[in-house]
Amino acid sequence: MIKSSGLRNDSASGPKRRLRRTGVPKAVIIVGAGQGGLVASIYARLRGHQVLILDPTPGGKAAPIQEGDYRLDPGPSIIILTELYDRVFRDAGRKREDYLTFQRLRPLSRVCFEGSEPLDLPDDRKQAEQLVAGLDAADGKNFAELMSKLDEVAPAVEKSVFARPYDRIWQLIDPQLMKVGARFNVRQTYREMVDGWFRTPLLRAFFYGFPSYGGQSYRSKAPGALLIPYYMLQNGVWYPEGGISAIPQAFRRLAEELGVEFRAEKVTEVEKEGSRITAVRTNLGARYEAESFISNLDRLTFGEMVGRSANMEPSYSYFTVHWGVRKPLPQVEHHTLLVPKSFEQGFESLYDTRTFASEPIVYLNNTSMTDPTVAPKGKTNLFAVVTSPAMEDHLDWPANQERLADNLEAQLRTFGIDVAETDFRRIQTPVYFQQQHGNHRGSLYGPDEKHRILGGLFPLSNRDDEFKNLFYCGGSVQPGAGLPMVTLGGRFAAEML
Ligand SMILES: Cc1cc2nc3c(=O)[nH]c(=O)nc-3n(C[C@H](O)[C@H](O)[C@H](O)COP(=O)(O)OP(=O)(O)OC[C@H]3O[C@@H](n4cnc5c(N)ncnc54)[C@H](O)[C@@H]3O)c2cc1C
Repeated sequence: MIKSSGLRNDSASGPKRRLRRTGVPKAVIIVGAGQGGLVASIYARLRGHQVLILDPTPGGKAAPIQEGDYRLDPGPSIIILTELYDRVFRDAGRKREDYLTFQRLRPLSRVCFEGSEPLDLPDDRKQAEQLVAGLDAADGKNFAELMSKLDEVAPAVEKSVFARPYDRIWQLIDPQLMKVGARFNVRQTYREMVDGWFRTPLLRAFFYGFPSYGGQSYRSKAPGALLIPYYMLQNGVWYPEGGISAIPQAFRRLAEELGVEFRAEKVTEVEKEGSRITAVRTNLGARYEAESFISNLDRLTFGEMVGRSANMEPSYSYFTVHWGVRKPLPQVEHHTLLVPKSFEQGFESLYDTRTFASEPIVYLNNTSMTDPTVAPKGKTNLFAVVTSPAMEDHLDWPANQERLADNLEAQLRTFGIDVAETDFRRIQTPVYFQQQHGNHRGSLYGPDEKHRILGGLFPLSNRDDEFKNLFYCGGSVQPGAGLPMVTLGGRFAAEML
């Protein structure tokens, strides 16, 4: 039993619950209420377990930050694959629309290539294919062919990687996985594939970044990364009513309705006995025992708490700046990508030398274009995100962060975006992600890909090798990072209980 006072009784109260309770109900503690932990708590509860979730700041990277009259989304901003959220509510016998509503964003994104007129990417696949063909006929043909190829790959990925975790060698004998492999040249790196298809710098710059969202580089075998732009075009890009934080708030509401208990406490110690975790202790001096544990913390960080060395290089992270700009910025769309002419050097810095590019590709998020509640009238809530190395030994983030933010402002000026007059400037570096969310060396995607499992094909496993009652969800484990993937990972971990 979870030893704590005031736990609700064990009757999960969801109407029309569809999932069968399996096995013996257990007392389960979930450490961390990021998106992965929230979803794990819902599925654990639907399976009849008694669930306590511990987190001093629930919502994780999707929790809002108030800065004066501005409401900031400090983490995720590009919302895709909302059908994966729908499934969680459906499995609980609910309708997602009763908890969370989305507005489709049009255009998908604005792309500003230095020296060229801005391009607005339509959210319609045919129109997007025409737009690419207008840039270059051969690229247009290859783009349309790539999309058709991905039409075949996506269902196979959904039936395999999205459906279950892979951590046993025999699981690789999977017809769906083989179908994915058969559609690509397995000897080619991601970059070789992209360079083979596209010759316009704009297309190459657009595609080169996607492997980093899985903690990989364009020198990896990373065809799965192509599904990110595919799903953006195919299924749309969305904005939740109430801002990004409406997502974790909706999942927390559902979890509470089902009877999950939340406590705003930070886990500071983990107790173990033989091959089992037995209890956790928190910053408030409490001690909680349970039969099973799910960590929504980075797997390596939690590993340190059970006495393991986390001696693995990190993958990638982000450097971000928020500005409260004292004027409207209509030239910046809800999603805007600024691509410098020197983008190739930027990717070499990121992927090859793990340094911060002097002129990186900058993603800008201007929610003021869509949502009047995020900034005072006539002002702009502007958020810049640059994919960056994590806390590498050769980088001193605290000493350099102000200079990097100044450089970013100078870069924005070359694109005609002036952020000189602001109400505030707020910086996040990998150090912040380590301190605030427990990410190993500030990396958002787990360790460097050389530490991936099953021949490098998959991120770390959702189950612990040493402790039989310990499981993981979140960005450092399968199926990967990003809100849609950690939603799946939360279900994977709960199903392993
Ligand atoms: C700048 C940025 C931009 C991003 N952009 C996108 C995007 O556009 N689209 C997208 O889908 N994804 C994006 N992501 C990635 C996405 O935010 C993450 O992959 C996802 O939110 C991670 O969820 P998680 O379940 O791993 O938990 P996290 O959000 O990492 O939450 C972990 C939780 O654990 C808690 N915790 C930490 N230590 C303890 C402890 N000792 N005891 C108890 N609790 C603890 C923390 O308080 C936190 O709530 C972005 C991330 C960042 C940072």
